[in-house]
Formats: sequence, C-alpha cells, structure tokens
Amino acid sequence: LTATEQAVLDEIEEKGVDFLRLQFTDILGVVKNVAVPARQAEKAFTEGIYFDGSSIEGFVRIQESDMRLKPDPETFAILPWRDTEEGAAARMICDVINTSTGEPFEGDPRYVLKQAIERAEEMGYSINAAPEPEFFMFEEDEEGRATTKTADVGGYFDLAPKDLASDVRRDIIYGLEAMDFEIEASHHEVAEGQYEINFEYDDALTTADNVGTFRTVVRAIAAEHDLHATFMPKPIPRINGSGMHTHLSLMTEDGTNAFHDGADEFDLSDTAKSFLAGILEHAPAITAVANPTVNSYKRLVPGYEAPVYVAWSDRNRSALIRKPAARVPAASRIELRSPDPSCNPYLAFAVMIHAGLEGIEQGLEAPDPVRENIYEFDEEKREEYGIDTLPTNLGEAVTALEEDEVIFDALGDHVGPKFVEAKKQEFGDYLVDVSQWELDEYLETF
Ligand code: GLU
Ligand code: MG
Ligand code: MG
Repeated sequence: LTATEQAVLDEIEEKGVDFLRLQFTDILGVVKNVAVPARQAEKAFTEGIYFDGSSIEGFVRIQESDMRLKPDPETFAILPWRDTEEGAAARMICDVINTSTGEPFEGDPRYVLKQAIERAEEMGYSINAAPEPEFFMFEEDEEGRATTKTADVGGYFDLAPKDLASDVRRDIIYGLEAMDFEIEASHHEVAEGQYEINFEYDDALTTADNVGTFRTVVRAIAAEHDLHATFMPKPIPRINGSGMHTHLSLMTEDGTNAFHDGADEFDLSDTAKSFLAGILEHAPAITAVANPTVNSYKRLVPGYEAPVYVAWSDRNRSALIRKPAARVPAASRIELRSPDPSCNPYLAFAVMIHAGLEGIEQGLEAPDPVRENIYEFDEEKREEYGIDTLPTNLGEAVTALEEDEVIFDALGDHVGPKFVEAKKQEFGDYLVDVSQWELDEYLETF
C-alpha cells in the first residue's frame, strides 16, 4: 500500500466508517456508486472491486461487462450527510479498469480527461480549472416530487421567520467544507431561486472530480430541507438559465502562468491567445459536449447572459469567451461561458483542453476582442465582424461534433461514438414529442 492508501485505512478505522461508496461516472456524467463494507478498503486498493458494467449508460456490451474499480485514495472523503452516531459513510472516486486487459477502460470519462491532461504535460503544461456552477432550488409537492416553484419568492418581501433558502445555502457550504472544498463565494444569482457557489480552482482532474461531488452535495443537502436542487440548464423559460462558466489557465513546469503577459494590452500571452483561438475554432463541436441536453439550447439564446456568438471579449458577457480582470499575474485566465452544469465535467474539460492545445500547436491567432454587446448586433454587423453563432439545438451540435475530427477524437474511440449515438437518440426522442407549448399554442386554435 502507498502512504496515502494507508492513511485512508487509518482514517476509516479512526472515524468509524462502515461503508465505502466507490464512485465513477457514466458517459452522461451521472455519478454511479458501488457500495462496499469499509473493511474491503484494503482489497479495493490492492485488487480493485469488480462490478458489472453492462447496466451503466454507454459503458460496455453484455459479453464484456466485467469491470474493475480502482479507487483514487486522494479522493477519500466522509459524506457529511451520512456521518452519524451509528457510523459514517465515505466515498472514493475510482478509475475504471478493463478486467480482460488490465488497462484503463477507454469508456471511463475520467480516463478521457487524463488523456487530455497528458497531452498538455507532453507540451510542458499543467492545467488549472475553476467552474462556476449555477443551480436552482425548488419546492417539492406533497408527494415529494420536484416542482418549479422557487423557495425564495415570497421570502423576499415577507418578514418570514426563517429564510429557508439562505439556511439551506449555509448548510450546503458547511457540507462542501466538510468535504474539503475551499469556498470562495456564494451568492444569489440573477433569477429567483437561483444560486451560485464558487470553489477554488485546482488542477483539471481534481476540479472535474469536484464538480461531481458538488452536484451530489448540493442535491443531498437541499433534499434534507425538502427542496429540490437542479442543475438543469433552463428550468424556467424567459429568465436566466444556469451556466457552468469554466475558467482555464496553463502553468509551465516552473510554476509560472503561461497565459500571462504583462506587456500585452489584455495581459494575455500568445500562448493564451492561441489556446483561446483553438476553442473558438472548435466551438460548435465543443458545444455538443459542454451543452449536452436538449434543454441546454433553451439557455443559449440572446438576452440572458449566456453566450450565443463565437467571439471573445475583455469586457462584456455576451461573448463565448471572456477575459476576466486578474489582480495578479498568476490569475490571468480565460473564462469559457458556454458550458452548463448538465455536462459531464470530465468530457467537457477534455474537449476544451484539446481544442486549446490544438490552437497552440497550430499557432492559431486570436481575432480581435469584441467589446460591444453582441446580442444587439444584426446579422450584417455580425458578418462584418466575422462572428459565427453556436449551434441552436442538440441535433446541430452533434453533427458539428461528428464533423470535427479534433474534438471527436478527443473523446476517444469508445466514448466518441457512444456519446454521438446516445445524443442522437435523445434529440430524436425530443423531435417526436409534443410539448406543452404546442398544446397551448395550437390545440384550441386549429
Ligand atoms: N446565468 C448566466 C448563464 O446562463 C450567467 C450569469 C453570470 O454571468 O454569472 O450563463
Ligand atoms: Mg454566475
Ligand atoms: Mg462567470
């Protein structure tokens, strides 16, 4: 056992952990658990834990369904909402191993991200990432099902004895801190019932792990208060949706920020600009992965602070990429504003990283930043500035993904085709459905 593995065993003993949840995600980014008694921890480290992968979305065919989970001891954490007198439960995030080859399983999204990180390392970089996940909290109905009624509408003017939403938010932050999150800020977002909690940046892999944990903690603690937290991108039409803006920067081996150049008008190095240009170039295909649901495209419309146009800006929020002001050189970074929190963070980070690295390798040059509000541009003006638009629905985005070799290959031989297949089916299902809007609009008119 390594020292970290031994430390995990000691902590299990000391804290009276009786159950271990071994976690991984499927292609859609849904966190899966295999629960084992904590006494199996040592075996999990030395041999791994076998499971049947055939029931996991997009994983394997029945005849090759045996998979093995290899827990990453660095990710050990006690679940704050399962820490009771009788015992505690803890989780570890796992890599998935193909039992027949003993190699990492190509269908594991965490592996896909590791490949992207490796490409960066070969070029001499490590990657820092910080997401800004937004979410709504809604009330539950009598049967405990989610509604779209926000819990804080009334609370605003009423002198309610208890502001439910802020209590919940506080408990969520305690829960996250108990799981070693460094919380930077938490605020009410633009829409009613909408929140954002920011946690500190970390290396891209840790950050992707953190996104999964964050979603789990937020939902679990909201549920304790009989609220339903949702990361659905646009639960309510005609108000802001929920994004997951992602801040990225590259560090060189000596620990300096490769994105910073104090001599540049925007404090951005040529490396940063090429990285940014790579993302702009591959933006349509990235969208399929960073905005992977039918509902994602209800958010990517003009007027609600979500991006629609493929451009970058050092000022305004209508562009796809924003250069946030940085107080110190180490903080120079770019903010990609398209991702939403329904994405699989491993896959979304992997495609952004590959696109950016491709930009560096090809020596792409960034266009000029656009400083005006692009929502207000007409088509002619957009053409004059050479600004493309993002895909307007999941179908278009998936087509763009299939046509973009760099991004499709970034997903690997297993995930790429499976992802496209699953998303085509999802979009097809949507196309044949009849929505409430159509009924309201047509049922009595025709
Ligand atoms: N909710 C907005 C979005 O959909 C972002 C608002 C903000 O700038 O934080 O991306
Ligand atoms: Mg926000
Ligand atoms: Mg932001």
